Amino acid sequence: MAGQPLTIADNIARIRQQLQQAASDAQRDPANITLVAVSKTKPVAMIKQAIACGQLDFGENYVQEGIEKVQQLSTEDNLCWHFIGPIQSNKTKDIAQHFQWVHSIDRFKIARRLSEQRPATLPPLQVLIQVNIDDETSKAGVNPDQVIALAAQITALPQINLRGLMAIPAAKDAGDVAPSFERMHGLFLQLQAQYKEVDTLSMGMSNDLSEAIAAGATMIRVGSAIFGARD
Ligand SMILES: *Cc1c(COP(=O)(O)O)cnc(C)c1O
Repeated sequence: MAGQPLTIADNIARIRQQLQQAASDAQRDPANITLVAVSKTKPVAMIKQAIACGQLDFGENYVQEGIEKVQQLSTEDNLCWHFIGPIQSNKTKDIAQHFQWVHSIDRFKIARRLSEQRPATLPPLQVLIQVNIDDETSKAGVNPDQVIALAAQITALPQINLRGLMAIPAAKDAGDVAPSFERMHGLFLQLQAQYKEVDTLSMGMSNDLSEAIAAGATMIRVGSAIFGARD
């Protein structure tokens, strides 16, 4: 096809429009849905283009890469960094020092270390429990029936705030992920009934963000639809 390739600004505008449309279809306020731009493997120059469009929330999967970007962009105002990848316990200190949010808590030991290692000079770390909603052996996350028990342990920790749940449903055609998103929403409501500060349901990526919003997502994590395919 002729014409200029799509820019990051074009992509962000399109995703915002898609977010607005999905919110409107679901009779939800789009202001209650945060777009996290997943910049893993992508260079700082691309992140700067997104910042120029007013994008403030960014997601990273790899600790070392993420910290380098946080540091290189430390003069930018109001950025919010989300750690969304698997967490090894020897990396918790780096995460606790450099990120504002962690979406991928899947065991108490990790939560306890993050709380202990969160610098007292910073606000508490905002965290989500990752749920293995389709019971995949290949995927991180707790089983749905373990969420409430883990939440009880996490909410007792001083330096982290439990804000909700995150999931990555099994890869399927977009329509088929709806039941997984609906089950996540059910778990989220159950958790929210117990803990007033729970307000975040992180689900939906480039290919299924509209379905996630229809099911109640309050945070979507979009990578390739903004920054292009990854190698
Ligand atoms: C890579 C990644 C994303 C973004 O995926 P896209 O399909 O590129 O939008 C979202 N969430 C997590 C946890 C990821 O690892």
